[in-house]
Amino acid sequence: MTGMTYNNSYDIAAVMLSVCCILYFALSKRIRHFKHTLYAMLCGCVLIGSLSNISAGAFAAAGHPIAANIAINLYFLVNVLTMCIFGLYIQCISGYLMNWHKKHYLFYSIPADITAVLIMSNIFLHFLFYYDADCNYIRGKAFLILHCLSAIYLVHTVVVLLKNVIFIQKRKIACLLSGLGVVVTGIIIQMLFRQLQIQLFTEAIMLTLMAIVFENASLEVDPDLNVYKRKEFLEYYKTACDLKREMTLIAVSLVNTEQLLSTLSGEEKAAAFRGVCEKITKHVSHHNVYAYSTEKYAVMLDRSNVKNYSIVENDLLIALEAMFNQSWSIGEKKVYFNALVTVIHLPDDVENVTLESVFHRGRNLDFTDSNMILRDHKDVDILRKRTRMLNAVRRACENQSFLVYYQPIWSVDTQSIVSAEALVRMDDPELGFIPPDEFISAAEEYGLISALGEIVLEKVCQFCAAYHPEQYGIEWIELNVSPYQLGDANIVQKFANLLQKYNVPVSFINLELTETVDVFRNGIFVDTLKQLREYGFTFSMDDYGTGYSNLANLMSNNYRTVKIDKSLLWKATDKAGLDFLMITVNQLKSIKLQVLQEGVETKEQLDIITSFGGNLIQGYYFSKPLPAGEFIAYCKRLAG
Ligand code: C2E
Ligand code: CA
Ligand code: CA
Repeated sequence: MTGMTYNNSYDIAAVMLSVCCILYFALSKRIRHFKHTLYAMLCGCVLIGSLSNISAGAFAAAGHPIAANIAINLYFLVNVLTMCIFGLYIQCISGYLMNWHKKHYLFYSIPADITAVLIMSNIFLHFLFYYDADCNYIRGKAFLILHCLSAIYLVHTVVVLLKNVIFIQKRKIACLLSGLGVVVTGIIIQMLFRQLQIQLFTEAIMLTLMAIVFENASLEVDPDLNVYKRKEFLEYYKTACDLKREMTLIAVSLVNTEQLLSTLSGEEKAAAFRGVCEKITKHVSHHNVYAYSTEKYAVMLDRSNVKNYSIVENDLLIALEAMFNQSWSIGEKKVYFNALVTVIHLPDDVENVTLESVFHRGRNLDFTDSNMILRDHKDVDILRKRTRMLNAVRRACENQSFLVYYQPIWSVDTQSIVSAEALVRMDDPELGFIPPDEFISAAEEYGLISALGEIVLEKVCQFCAAYHPEQYGIEWIELNVSPYQLGDANIVQKFANLLQKYNVPVSFINLELTETVDVFRNGIFVDTLKQLREYGFTFSMDDYGTGYSNLANLMSNNYRTVKIDKSLLWKATDKAGLDFLMITVNQLKSIKLQVLQEGVETKEQLDIITSFGGNLIQGYYFSKPLPAGEFIAYCKRLAG
């Protein structure tokens, strides 16, 4: 091939594009990560490649064969290197590099090594390509070897891509495939029409696409917290789980953020959260930290790459604890954070544990000893149990498989059973019979209580429609309503629909509420209560004598019945206890409330509460909660 002039406009365009990419890369702030290093190397390769191609042409035109030869050899070397690094980049974003050790890198670099050796020898031996003394470009017979070496990397890259299609977001796959298509087209055009040196230009286009899709810091870094976003974490975590990597997830959930609201302004709060992230990153380096939410952060550590990992982890946790036990300065103010830190070892610990439960702050955390509570993988069983419980509640909601039992309520006045409390039961195919105290709180914490409550009411309505308990003297049914259900603005409509569907009068259902501060000071709840009352529901205050129940609330929320908690009765074994119970009953009666005593197990207890003037009695003395059919049989037997 002699005397051909080559058109260098495409290479000039490639230089400009790659310089733009380098500037963009250099000017945008980002968290250091291997993939960014690879990208920077790619930009460098394309720039050097196009510069050397331009200079080779220029030297040849000016009649300097030696310089032209050096430039063209450099060009081809960089060409193969680009493919090699691009392949690594793809491995990196699909999470595969996580599994790579030295030997993988050595193996992967073989085609690049061969290229280097070939090019070195070609400078002297001219068997691949060269400029002759007249500056004519000659291709040798072995020229195609270089293309084959590039092709190895290209094919490998495509295979990795296809293998990881599910891990990588569709948007990213589309970018990579279209970019790769452009590059391959460029290579083919350049092979067919040698004067069109277009390959580097297509590679520069690919770089630009990658800058937009992969190297766009704002897409992956949370601008407020300056750590990786949740989405990046979820992707990374999923890949680590799928590859069964030996990694550790340290989940940091700030707990007392609600209370802090009252001390800090919105801006100060944002600064505080950012400060927490900053301090965490100081201990574990930036690229390991992710935001799960504004108040929950994830640290991912690669156990297999760290020597003496357990010591490192231990030191880290000590540092975290020290950090939380100091106050945080936010502007002029100083605050303390309570943090729940959960350490999970992948891959073993994650089995049957959801991220949701790992980050879940739960309730009743005790921070009296330290501002940080640590749950390590020994505690994972608790999480696992919770996850299983949550799944069981989900299943039961889906299949409507909750059971409702009925515990008779006896009237002192009529000396007969006049009512029953509906009590939910769960018999899970995997976990067996679970007491409501355990699964109700799980349902409340995970937003399933509303569905559960509806199912219970529907079962109660079905029971009324099927057995007509009013025939046996039952005047109403007590139904437990969790305060969290009152947050559901549709509850009134849902309840009304169910009553209508089964033709149950609203006066037949009395709702039991347990008072807590946060509920009855909240307009939403108060509003829902009002609507329920307007619809015709009446109410009992449950568990009186525990928690936040008090007389003032009782008067303002016009209850029909008050259920005295069993603990009050059970403590009435001495004079003080007896007096307290008597005063309580008297007080309630003086404001014209019906008094129901729960937990009556013995004749003595029954006599005590009757002598004090209690109106209604519920407890094992009469009966345990019974399935619908047995309850009706019980009523019949008592009436007969
Ligand atoms: P609760 O509303 O205080 O219900 C009374 C609990 O005391 C029931 O426990 C009942 O079986 C038990 N009990 C009744 N009499 C006696 C007695 O004489 N001795 C003793 N030791 N216990 C007695 P259960 O059925 O395990 O329910 C526990 C809690 O779960 C209930 O406490 C209630 O807060 C909640 N719960 C039950 N069903 C529902 C429901 O459908 N919805 C909601 N939101 N919560 C429910
Ligand atoms: Ca109750
Ligand atoms: Ca109760």
